[in-house]
Amino acid sequence: MNDRQVNPRLSRAIAQGVGELQRGRARIDDQDALGVSVLVEHRSDHSPEALRSVLGGDHDRVAEHVATVPAVNATTTVLAYHALGTHGAPPRGTPLHNAFVSTEAFEAQMAFLARHREVVSLDAITQGVGRDGRKSVSITFDDAYRSVLTLAVPVLERYRLAATVFVPTMWIGQRNGWDPPSSAPLEIMTHEELLELRDRGFQVASHGHAHIDLGRASPAEVEHDVAASARCLTEILGSPPRHFAYPYGKSSEAARQAVARAGFDLAFALDRGTERPSRLAVPRTPIYPRDRRWLYGMKASGRYRQIRYWPPLRGGYDLLRPLIRGRRS
Ligand SMILES: [Zn+2]
Repeated sequence: MNDRQVNPRLSRAIAQGVGELQRGRARIDDQDALGVSVLVEHRSDHSPEALRSVLGGDHDRVAEHVATVPAVNATTTVLAYHALGTHGAPPRGTPLHNAFVSTEAFEAQMAFLARHREVVSLDAITQGVGRDGRKSVSITFDDAYRSVLTLAVPVLERYRLAATVFVPTMWIGQRNGWDPPSSAPLEIMTHEELLELRDRGFQVASHGHAHIDLGRASPAEVEHDVAASARCLTEILGSPPRHFAYPYGKSSEAARQAVARAGFDLAFALDRGTERPSRLAVPRTPIYPRDRRWLYGMKASGRYRQIRYWPPLRGGYDLLRPLIRGRRS
């Protein structure tokens, strides 16, 4: 990357951001300040002088300023995981690689949440929680892979953390048949395992029925898929599911309507910045195997999402991303 090219754009993005930030009054904790600071600091690997000129000599000041922007206020963050463990994880560069978080990383992440965040159930996020000024976080898993039961649940129980598992009901007890045949085969929990999960205090919710892209399916297909999944889960659990996560994080107006008609309270998307956040498209932040500690801290603060999609800082982040990616081991 060419510093001469990048510097003015980054400089402009940050200067613009800082101007906005100074008008805010929110506070930030050290962990997040560190995250933002490190994010910006990545520039220094290439050119400490350029960094200093961009940040006016003191990159901590930028972290401080970022802390005060209203748009990056702490809100409840909903984290989205998929599978756990490295056994059977496809290699880097293949489609499902990003779905796996190692057990070690997950353990460290849960220890971080137990210590620095208030972990709440999805029911609680609508109730404006967040005692003691700690940021609240909800933990979710898409696809109901068996590895969640065998590897994630024991860790969650040890730290007494709530979590929700979204299951695509047509694939219960089978494998991820919605992925291309060349993908890694991953086992989905059975009926019995879903009940066990519920009995151990975790929430089981809907990820649609056939795991189709509800953002592109016809209104009739959408209606059928959402209703089938609600029916299936009601049969298994004995009560109607309350929460829904769109496969691939994608929805359409028809999908959101169908989800509301089927009686779901909240429906979850993924952070792609494509839909307007609402009760029927609550954004979630996906966790990837490459997320290092500081990035995880930011993601679990709600700030990553805000910074990522907040126009004044977006330009800066886009420029930093290749550096961040390039540096991971
Ligand atoms: Zn899925």
